[in-house]
Amino acid sequence: MTDTTLLQSARELDAGDAIAGYRGQFDLPPGVIYLDGNSLGALPLRTAAHLGEVVRKQWGEGLIRSWNTADWVNLPQRVGGKIAPLIGAQPHEVIACDSTSVNLFKLIAAALQMRPGRKVVLSEPGNFPTDLYMIAGLEAQGLAERRLAERARLVDALDDDVALLMLTHVHYKTGEMFDMAALTKAAHEAGALVLWDLSHSTGAVPVQLNAAGADFAVGCGYKYLNGGPGAPAFAYAAERHHDTMGQPLTGWFGHAAPFAFEDDYRPAPGMERMLAGTPPVLGLSALEQGVELVAEIGMDRLVEKSRGLSEFLRRAIAHFAPDLPCISPADPAQRGSQLSFRHENAYALSQALIARGIIGDFRDPDILRLGLAPAYIRYEDCYRAAEALGEILQTGEWERDEFMQRAAVT
Ligand SMILES: *Cc1c(COP(=O)(O)O)cnc(C)c1O
Repeated sequence: MTDTTLLQSARELDAGDAIAGYRGQFDLPPGVIYLDGNSLGALPLRTAAHLGEVVRKQWGEGLIRSWNTADWVNLPQRVGGKIAPLIGAQPHEVIACDSTSVNLFKLIAAALQMRPGRKVVLSEPGNFPTDLYMIAGLEAQGLAERRLAERARLVDALDDDVALLMLTHVHYKTGEMFDMAALTKAAHEAGALVLWDLSHSTGAVPVQLNAAGADFAVGCGYKYLNGGPGAPAFAYAAERHHDTMGQPLTGWFGHAAPFAFEDDYRPAPGMERMLAGTPPVLGLSALEQGVELVAEIGMDRLVEKSRGLSEFLRRAIAHFAPDLPCISPADPAQRGSQLSFRHENAYALSQALIARGIIGDFRDPDILRLGLAPAYIRYEDCYRAAEALGEILQTGEWERDEFMQRAAVT
């Protein structure tokens, strides 16, 4: 059911795309349309080459000397410093370490300690599970009290008991984006601190942590930063908090002098105190390559392309599958780099698409999610995906038994 006008328009947009050439810097399998870069970013060619070098030269030949000679020891600070300009922060305010989950735990605890007499961590129901579970972990320690309020009621729920407002900037299911500056201001007016989870934002949408006055943030390395499966995450704290913040995982790498081997813990100055154990050198080396590539393309161009892609995909799906409701905000400036659609059999739909080489994903219970990583997705990919989705729905191709069996990772 080709629509030549729409296909033509996709090809024209690709021809005029200033960053189209960067697609060639990713090792994408032929014949695959990859609409899941918001879950696991694609492999940059430079990462494969660099990792080979790090493994053979730095590890194999350099052995333990490479902690100094290859500057392994500063990887968390160095990679954090390269992430900083992508999120409107200063280089010394960001450190790459641990997972997003662990960084959430450390920073929620840090914020609670800075607001004695207040225990409430305010978030929204339906926030990403790990974010909510980390509050529960601190609740079990008697340190926190969880409060959830719907998006429209968050500001009303900010009272004298709230120590921390903790939100995910771009919602992983719907793609809805919070107004970071406005909510940060409201929380501060109520005497609370704010922690933003930037997992679905970094490398995809404009983020200005400093300008918004944000206190803390975390984000993911393996989504739009293309750091590889299970890549280290990052943590941000505004400079004004560096002297007063503490964190509960007081490991030796967060010590002021790790190689003094002292019996008593003394926190390192600044973000280094957010470190716990030995930095994962291979993971950080891969992440550094992904971050450098994103920085090279530039956030302004990535944001412009992301909005263009999602607008085009929305139009194309409205054309080929007019009965499939899009639950992401209609205004591209108010959503992340994804579109989500609701369908009773969204899982089977996602499987039928994958069988055609179009990889999106499913989020329980009824959401088909299509991610648009602007660094390597083409307008024609959006056209192909929309056309296939239309065909799958029209022919009932998704109704096969094999498309109903749920895999462990959806
Ligand atoms: C992907 C994601 C995470 C991932 O956390 P991990 O510790 O890497 O598993 C956390 N929060 C949000 C909002 C995410 O989208």
